[in-house]
Amino acid sequence: MSECIFCKIANRLSGSDAEYHFEDDQISAFDDINPQAPIHILIVPKRHIPTIADIVDSDTELLGRMVRVASELAKSHHLNENGYRLVFNVKDHGGQVVDHIHLHLLGGRQLGKMNNN
Ligand code: AMP
Ligand code: ZN
Repeated sequence: MSECIFCKIANRLSGSDAEYHFEDDQISAFDDINPQAPIHILIVPKRHIPTIADIVDSDTELLGRMVRVASELAKSHHLNENGYRLVFNVKDHGGQVVDHIHLHLLGGRQLGKMNNN
């Protein structure tokens, strides 16, 4: 079985008590274990794709669905008025730690401007 932690959590194979916000046949969304904002949800495909650098044309619909799930979760968490941030970290320089693509949804506080990191 895969040793990838996000394969396990997204497919509900781990004993982790993650708080799930969404699930369908392709995608799970659950709380980040180390939240950087009042709302910090990870939108994760069930299929293992290591990084955004690995995506191909046939992944386009999946990636679009991930963004759509994020926008719905943002709405249901009342983030539409003040806004929020969606982030993919990619490989070392992008700060990626878990090598299974995941879209961060961050909101509920004023986040730093991009030029402050
Ligand atoms: P990244 O730096 O983009 O790879 O982000 C990885 C994120 O996964 C970090 O924000 C971690 O806090 C989060 N994380 C790591 N392990 C877990 C876990 N078991 N459950 C939920 N979130 C996790
Ligand atoms: Zn994986």
